[in-house]
Amino acid sequence: MRLTPAVNIKKMVYLTQHVSSIIDDALEQLSFRNLLYPKQHNIIAIAMKGKKVIARAFNDYTQSSALQRLYARKAHIKNVYDHAEVAAINKTNGLVDTMIVLRANHKGNLLLAKPCEKICMKMLRDFNVKKLYYSVNGDIVCLKL
Ligand SMILES: [Zn+2]
Repeated sequence: MRLTPAVNIKKMVYLTQHVSSIIDDALEQLSFRNLLYPKQHNIIAIAMKGKKVIARAFNDYTQSSALQRLYARKAHIKNVYDHAEVAAINKTNGLVDTMIVLRANHKGNLLLAKPCEKICMKMLRDFNVKKLYYSVNGDIVCLKL
């Protein structure tokens, strides 16, 4: 995972109540996932259109969708299992304007979940996602794409 240069990252000093409650819900789902699969890195991605959550998905260690394979092939990366962002896009009609990507440890502390550059960032831009929130250690950052 590689961080975008700091100049492009806007530290979130303020999350709207709406986004904040979506993140809280997602963290609850993530903590359940962490209980079920304590040995893997569990990441949740939430796809939104306007203010509406239209899909939620976790990264997957068993499935590799056509979309994941397509972007892996384009990036000359050996096939990989579905990243959460790809799994979330797969559950929509492709009309997504905001994506939230989160990872947390078993105590619920936020960890880095910056979407990978070669597959997810490329896909998010291709799908015209405008706004991306993702967790970093103990915080959420927002990136305009
Ligand atoms: Zn990825």
